[in-house]
Amino acid sequence: MLGHGAPFGPLRLTSSYAAGQVSVRNQRTYMTKFSDLNLNPKVLKAIDEAGYETPTPIQAGAIPAALDGRDVLGIAQTGTGKTASFTLPLITALARGRARARMPRSLVLCPTRELAAQVAENFDTYAKHVKLTKALLIGGVSFKEQDLLIDKGVDVLIATPGRLLDHFERGKLILNDVKVMVVDEADRMLDMGFIPDIERIFGLTPFTRQTLFFSATMAPEIERITNTFLSNPERIEVARQATASETIEQGVVMFKGSRKDREASEKRKVLRGLIDAEGEKLTNAIIFCNRKTDVDIVAKSLKKYKYDTAPIHGDLDQSQRTRTLDGFRNGELRILVASDVAARGLDVPSVSHVFNFDVPGHPEDYVHRIGRTGRAGRAGKAITICVPRDEKQFDAVEKLIQKEIPRLDNPVKPSKPAATEKTDAEEKPKSTRSRSSRSKSEPKTETPVEAITETKAETPREDTTSKSRSRSSSSRSRSSRDDRGGNRVVGLGDHTPSFIGLSFEERMAS
Ligand code: AMP
Repeated sequence: MLGHGAPFGPLRLTSSYAAGQVSVRNQRTYMTKFSDLNLNPKVLKAIDEAGYETPTPIQAGAIPAALDGRDVLGIAQTGTGKTASFTLPLITALARGRARARMPRSLVLCPTRELAAQVAENFDTYAKHVKLTKALLIGGVSFKEQDLLIDKGVDVLIATPGRLLDHFERGKLILNDVKVMVVDEADRMLDMGFIPDIERIFGLTPFTRQTLFFSATMAPEIERITNTFLSNPERIEVARQATASETIEQGVVMFKGSRKDREASEKRKVLRGLIDAEGEKLTNAIIFCNRKTDVDIVAKSLKKYKYDTAPIHGDLDQSQRTRTLDGFRNGELRILVASDVAARGLDVPSVSHVFNFDVPGHPEDYVHRIGRTGRAGRAGKAITICVPRDEKQFDAVEKLIQKEIPRLDNPVKPSKPAATEKTDAEEKPKSTRSRSSRSKSEPKTETPVEAITETKAETPREDTTSKSRSRSSSSRSRSSRDDRGGNRVVGLGDHTPSFIGLSFEERMAS
């Protein structure tokens, strides 16, 4: 939660909110009470039960426009309340009318399974007093189960693009009755190569549909998509500033390994030193690595040292990812080692610490990562380990946030020259077991693990099924785009169809 009574006042041009965390760029002044937003009373009841007092800026801007039947372009990041900004009007509108078999009435597209599951959870919370059906179409869940739900008819279909197209191609899904299409985290879709899929899905839905489109940034490709598929959208920009929240204490350890081949294991030792130095203050933490292989290695290494930890990245199977996340959310798991893609958009309300095991490749990811702590005015700490080859990237981070990040001492005492040879042995956890038993059951050092660590960068695709299809479909989607959006009809003369001019709710009910 963004916290009760978060300071969301009336919204005007470029105002700052929530201790400098969000700013709103929009000419309009929006209503700031949920009860003024024309939401269904049953939705208002659910909001009240969720403990929300005032709409966040993106909600105050997007909800009235969506309920008026307008297209919405929300430029907002996770943590701004954007999920409710499309879910609440969607539920209000869908409360009237019923879905037909295999013909969902609305579609929410998310880049990752976790994000889709999170939207589904939000939907359940806000729709708990309204009788609506939903289906979650994500990879890692059997088609059969999903088919059964779709066959019955669903009001809201929440999906990753690849899985949705798989169902469509199997002939199990008809998108002709989609009245509202939501695209969430479009910039991530772009990063993950989903834009051709999104274009294709746009082309498969009716021309008359309403589009609610969200992206944290407006890259040229995103701009092109919105120009093509959105019609005179209400644009609401709620940008998290490049500067991180003031409540986050930041620090960096500039670290150089004693030898190149020891750097990785010594870096993990530094990480353990940093964790230990935080003591009781560390209630839970996310450790970010740039590569999936490193996520596994760091998690494995910490586990070996008896830290309560688990990895999360796109190569792990869905049930494992869900279990890990649930454990972390409910406090059973203390330390999550994550890749950027897996952690993207995950709503974990209070994390005391974030560690960047690696300096992120994109400086904006630094702001995203450390934004996991210090949420809603709480104190948080973010510590980065920077090796010489990452110094350039680190400079870019400091440039972006326009602040020098305090240099911290390396918590690990440098070993004496004679002792350097022992580094690998020092990596081993203190154990009371005998030498012989250890040598049989554990690798001598972690170096062998390193040896298999290729520099396989995290491929930002969670939904692998669509890769080949994306390519093959892009030409098709282009033509279908032209069919329905590329050469948009700007005037219909005397042949204006009756749905034009209907309110959103009226259209949904039709
Ligand atoms: P999101 O940006 O959608 O990921 O939302 C971030 C967090 O804010 C979620 O935990 C929501 O439950 C919470 N939230 C959404 N809207 C409000 C609100 N109006 N007041 C307080 N918390 C909210």
